[in-house]
Amino acid sequence: MVTQVERDNVTWHTCETCGLMFDDKDDAKEHEKRCDEESPSYIQ
Ligand SMILES: [Zn+2]
Repeated sequence: MVTQVERDNVTWHTCETCGLMFDDKDDAKEHEKRCDEESPSYIQ
């Protein structure tokens, strides 16, 4: 799921699965699709 966070008047879209932040909503959605399907290797 992608959540929106506003910081310094900029809306960020955060992937809840791995915590990655995007300034572009479409980028976030696109990432989320892949993130859900595969287990990301970049989880901290
Ligand atoms: Zn993710």
